[in-house]
Amino acid sequence: MRRLEDLCFDNRYARLPDAFHTRVMPTPLPAPYRVAFNAAAAALIDLDPDQAQHPDFDAYFAGNRLLSGAEPLAMLYAGHQFGHFVPQLGDGRAILLGTVRNDRGQCWEVQLKGAGPTPYSRAGDGRAVLRSTIREYLCSEAMQGLGIPSTRALCIIGSDEEVYRENIETSAVLTRLAESHIRFGSFEVFYARRQFDLLRTLAEHVIAEHYPQFVALENRHALLLGAVIKRTALLMAQWQAVGFAHGVMNTDNMSILGLTLDYGPFGFLDSYDPGFICNHSDHGGRYAFAQQPGVGLWNLGRLAQALSPLIPIAVCNELLADYETQYNAAYLELMRAKLGLLAPHANDVELIHTLLQRLHDNRVDYTRFFRALADFAAACDARNDALRDQFLDRAAFDHWAGDYRARLNTEASGPDARRARMNRINPKYVLRNYLAETAIQRAQARDYSEIERLLEVLQKPYDEQAAMEHYAALPPDWASAIEVSCSS
Ligand code: AMP
Ligand code: MG
Repeated sequence: MRRLEDLCFDNRYARLPDAFHTRVMPTPLPAPYRVAFNAAAAALIDLDPDQAQHPDFDAYFAGNRLLSGAEPLAMLYAGHQFGHFVPQLGDGRAILLGTVRNDRGQCWEVQLKGAGPTPYSRAGDGRAVLRSTIREYLCSEAMQGLGIPSTRALCIIGSDEEVYRENIETSAVLTRLAESHIRFGSFEVFYARRQFDLLRTLAEHVIAEHYPQFVALENRHALLLGAVIKRTALLMAQWQAVGFAHGVMNTDNMSILGLTLDYGPFGFLDSYDPGFICNHSDHGGRYAFAQQPGVGLWNLGRLAQALSPLIPIAVCNELLADYETQYNAAYLELMRAKLGLLAPHANDVELIHTLLQRLHDNRVDYTRFFRALADFAAACDARNDALRDQFLDRAAFDHWAGDYRARLNTEASGPDARRARMNRINPKYVLRNYLAETAIQRAQARDYSEIERLLEVLQKPYDEQAAMEHYAALPPDWASAIEVSCSS
């Protein structure tokens, strides 16, 4: 475990040509103070958790002092936002300090989000508000706990500095860790500029750093695209299975490593609703819950187009054509597991589809239903009241339960083993909007303890955690009034 002064920086991205980034120093955050610190993320960069007591910790992660070995820069990228191509975006409020290599040889980029303006800030102030940093901090660690690939969060440093959004809010800096922050848009920018040499340089960099098994192979660019398609298909399946809506699936928010990236107006489903739109500004519902797998493919199409100078078009199309099969297979496998089923069966798609339809019709809470399903009694005379009472129309449940019971009776596994398996895939705790909102409101009154408690609960979402039962409750009435949009 290392001290802050001894972190082992090895800045791979900074070594790329100047066209990839702009060197820029963080803007000091006035009178910084600690809001949150996550020891689990510190371990990723070998940072001793006791270093949280270091007198300069807050200054380092507010961007007021520079860690030795850091080479701050803003990354350039472009992207399709709500379907429209924007030729230049780039880190407008995030500053990459560099890459830290840990003793296991893993590399983690350390980025300060909200660290002040960069040449890519356009009209923005380069800041993040406390509210949005808390949401990202909690959700990235919740995703990690759920076993869904995500960027990570090390800490939040707050300030009383005022920033102007829909209301006046205070600013904060989130330290984000990721093996790479490279996005689909990082490729699109060079494709749009016809700078195919730089495009190739970026592809070789990504392959060398993140897909080293392809380095020596002649068709490595196609293999790279194929790997990103596969990871994205899997990520989409995981989002759909857990009930996560990202909210802003622009290509500049799509990770080349298949990570959940850029937490803005995200939301977890409460009652099951395929039309759920978590982003208040998404009037057309482009990024509604059920659209996500299709948007994933559309975004991969933009990546394939950007890589087309390196890969024959026919190969790109062949690879893209695999996406749907990969997504469907991954989703079906996850949903089967959520139902506690082991052996695949021809009628499973129908069983799942019917269930989701009934959950929707009856406004049943998605997370609570699946968690409770582990206790489904498969005996013929059992009524399963705890489950059926979640349905407005009890008969809708009874009908499906009959099919499910019959299906369970074709399985070799008994109820105890099934319950144990189901409790490892159906989380008890997810970051519902109102839980984040409660932590935010307390933090705005300078009480950060709720962030800490929630982090602890969400890092182990599959455990019962008896004392934390209330975090698994249905959302209160006021939750429906919470609005989240892009401006954060
Ligand atoms: P996002 O919707 O958060 O993914 O951001 C889209 C683009 O807008 C990115 O290039 C961001 O860096 C930029 N951006 C968002 N908020 C700000 C801000 N407050 N100041 C400067 N740039 C921003
Ligand atoms: Mg973004």
